[in-house]
Amino acid sequence: MIQTLCTVDAITPLTPFVQKVLLSPQQAVDFLPGQYLQLCLTEQDKRPFSLACLPDGKQLELHIGASKADDYSSQALNYLQQQMDAKQPVMVEAGLGQAHLRPSDNPVLLLAGGTGFSYVYSMAKALQQLKQDKPVFLYWGVRQQSSLYLLDELQAWASSHSKFRFIPVVQDADDNWQGRSGLVHEAVLNDFVSLDAYDIYIAGPFPMVGVARDAFLKQGAHQQQMFADAFAYI
Ligand SMILES: Cc1cc2nc3c(=O)[nH]c(=O)nc-3n(C[C@H](O)[C@H](O)[C@H](O)COP(=O)(O)OP(=O)(O)OC[C@H]3O[C@@H](n4cnc5c(N)ncnc54)[C@H](O)[C@@H]3O)c2cc1C
Repeated sequence: MIQTLCTVDAITPLTPFVQKVLLSPQQAVDFLPGQYLQLCLTEQDKRPFSLACLPDGKQLELHIGASKADDYSSQALNYLQQQMDAKQPVMVEAGLGQAHLRPSDNPVLLLAGGTGFSYVYSMAKALQQLKQDKPVFLYWGVRQQSSLYLLDELQAWASSHSKFRFIPVVQDADDNWQGRSGLVHEAVLNDFVSLDAYDIYIAGPFPMVGVARDAFLKQGAHQQQMFADAFAYI
């Protein structure tokens, strides 16, 4: 774990409810794809956010959901905005978490609910760079289609990599949505007779992570091949 001050370079909307935050650390930060950082609002108040970037860049990228004025993520975002406006740095602790990408020959299932996407995005990018010849399935569940902020990029990846499959799943789909609908973990259960062979990485709201874990175990997944930092909280 590395503790460092960071400049807040930019906060830009990905959707009306999700912001992309770019930070420049004052010290080099090393981490593994799938790890997270803690934004230190105070010495006691530290809030976790997945790193959406790869460890090779100079900047750190976060995707922070903030739909309610007073919620946990909105407070963190307000703090980042204040520090940026005041040209003051923020303190982060980076390189945290046990649910990072493992070296393995197993096919990979990446499951994201909402802003859990940030976590799987960094791993999908890392897997692309490794150019391994193994299947990678990325399921991204959101409530509305408009929350799929990187839809075009992911569809382009899927078109150009035969082993990479991207399956967006919209919970409350309207008539214009041509893709899958419902709960994202249920889409996985429908698509795989058995999850026995897969390394499975999960991030999203804690209730989703809990039901996905239990359902996937019943569908043949192995506990030791399932990874989620949320397991520590539920
Ligand atoms: C280590 C760690 C890292 C974190 N990183 C981030 C981060 O980078 N950015 C951030 O904003 N927050 C982060 N958080 C906080 C937390 O993970 C988010 O608040 C959460 O992912 C927000 O989900 P959402 O509101 O976007 O999903 P929602 O919009 O609530 O749900 C998205 C989809 O998840 C599924 N789902 C939701 N609820 C259920 C349910 N009860 N049962 C079954 N399926 C369900 C559905 O398919 C739904 O469409 C992190 C937390 C931890 C512990």
